[in-house]
Amino acid sequence: MGKRVLVTGGAGFIGSHLCRYLLAKGHEVLCLDNFFTGRKSNIDELVERHDFELIRHDITEPILLEVDWIYNLACPASPVHYQYNPVKTVKTNVMGVINMLGLAKRVKARILQASTSEVYGDPLVHPQTESYWGHVNPIGIRSCYDEGKRVAETLMMDYHRQNRVDIRIARIFNTYGPNMLVDDGRVVSNFIVQALRGEDLTIYGDGLQTRSFCYVDDLVAALYRLMESDHFAGPVNLGNPCEFTMLKLAELVLELTDSQSEITHLPLPEDDPIQRRPDISKAKSLLDWTPKVQLREGLQQAVNYFRQVLEG
Ligand code: NAD
Ligand code: UDP
Repeated sequence: MGKRVLVTGGAGFIGSHLCRYLLAKGHEVLCLDNFFTGRKSNIDELVERHDFELIRHDITEPILLEVDWIYNLACPASPVHYQYNPVKTVKTNVMGVINMLGLAKRVKARILQASTSEVYGDPLVHPQTESYWGHVNPIGIRSCYDEGKRVAETLMMDYHRQNRVDIRIARIFNTYGPNMLVDDGRVVSNFIVQALRGEDLTIYGDGLQTRSFCYVDDLVAALYRLMESDHFAGPVNLGNPCEFTMLKLAELVLELTDSQSEITHLPLPEDDPIQRRPDISKAKSLLDWTPKVQLREGLQQAVNYFRQVLEG
């Protein structure tokens, strides 16, 4: 049967794809956003639908809604944006998560928290399994986000143990695709936008650091399966285990955009993780899920999207 689903951060990059996916599955969607990094244009064609509702709200303030499922995605995800107002980032991950858990408790909704691979910090274990506790700087410029998300996980666990709230925790690894902002600041959108504009591609550091990139459609399918899954089985890594250096990513973007842009090197930001790749054995067995879209194919979709946005 169709559920009433709250998607916080629903006008953002992942949230906007999730809203569409849920509607296609026959659910009713309440999309909540404060429009910090979210845009109405991401959900433009949904607002007229009878099964879609848009609520301008900040999750650091309480709200009461009758819902069955809550996807708590509200939180800026790009270092540029989460470091813009770090105290607000912490509030979103502490007060915001408490508010969403309070709502889940009151209306007996199932709640899924968007956590992150950043809970592993600059990992000393590679690839990262869910049992690894991480290597996180508690006082650095990334801490508002990394530690914020770690507290969010703690709150989820404590509401689960103390109040029997029905929870799911998704540890999301680097995800990319259409609906990212042109000025999002994350590496995939930066490189594509720079290549399309004929500007230098900005590699931070030597470019040998690695990330593993997941196409947004694969990620959204996993978020859905995790929410649907019968019982809470602890945090689950969601991502694509194909690992690339930033140099390789830059080369691929230059090839796919047919761009004459050059590569330039800028200083590596403080605490930037050296390597990251998810071990997704748990997601595979628990959710019968595996990512399908290869980087080249997904990047082509993202290139098409940004080309359209920049021309429009
Ligand atoms: P995004 O910045 O595009 O989306 C975040 C959305 O949340 C935006 O629409 C923003 O306006 C909204 N928001 C922020 N603070 C809010 C608040 N206090 N109240 C209400 N709305 C608020 O980022 P995204 O990439 O779509 O990420 C979505 C979620 O997934 C985030 O929680 C992020 O931490 C998590 N995540 C994303 C990635 C990734 O690679 N994209 C990786 C790990 C985790
Ligand atoms: N990065 C880069 N150039 C950019 C933006 C990012 O080389 O224009 C690097 C960044 O230093 C990091 C990697 O790309 O090593 C991924 O950065 P992003 O901000 O996308 O995600 P995160 O660091 O949070 O995984």
